[in-house]
Amino acid sequence: MSGRIPIAGNLKHIAEHIRSTAERAGRNHGSVRLVAVSKTRPAADVMAAYHAGQVLFGENYVQELTVKMAEVREPVEWHFIGHLQSNKVKYIAGGVSLIHSVDRLSLAEEISRQWGRFGKVCDVLIQVNVSGESTKSGTTEAGAIELVKACSLLPNIRVKGLMTMPPFFDDPEAARPFFAELRRLADRIRQENIAGVEMKELSMGMSGDFEAAIQEGATLVRIGTAIFGGRQ
Ligand SMILES: *Cc1c(COP(=O)(O)O)cnc(C)c1O
Repeated sequence: MSGRIPIAGNLKHIAEHIRSTAERAGRNHGSVRLVAVSKTRPAADVMAAYHAGQVLFGENYVQELTVKMAEVREPVEWHFIGHLQSNKVKYIAGGVSLIHSVDRLSLAEEISRQWGRFGKVCDVLIQVNVSGESTKSGTTEAGAIELVKACSLLPNIRVKGLMTMPPFFDDPEAARPFFAELRRLADRIRQENIAGVEMKELSMGMSGDFEAAIQEGATLVRIGTAIFGGRQ
């Protein structure tokens, strides 16, 4: 029963937590953006969050996203954060402002091709599997550098940074080394001075571990449960 979840109150609490964590880490709080992860949630929850001041939403599944895009009339901004199949890129082309989960060149090529049909450029992040867990998507660290270089040669795609999902731990501190490693990798890629590549975004941190992620440099935190309640 989504109506019982105090979405506005949760958002206010999270925004405050993000701000205080950033400030204590010596960062400008405007440097961390909240992506409200609305997967499995009805469009009504997105609208409720929008009317509480949240504009940016993240979705994992193409079909669910396209349905919600049609249902939500409010001018929200959508990010795609889940595993993306190349044959589904066409359904979201032009409709999302950032794809967090580019992990292979064939996908990047298809994104570039589909955005090119609209004469637009798609901003993307490279998803890196920092932990090396076989169950996680994402490229290896060495693969990330090669992928960024290859993406920089595609006409309708622009690499803005990196994204990672560490293994799940009960203790949020356990995720910290993976966040720090993603930041080091971004620094290394930045030093390569690849044309057109900015490396300014680090998408890391979820409901259970966003504080550590912000302390390690996250610019985008992806938070679902702490805003919308638990998922089935
Ligand atoms: C579901 C999901 C999130 C949000 O997770 P919560 O623990 O609900 O905050 C963040 N990122 C990705 C990629 C997800 O799939």
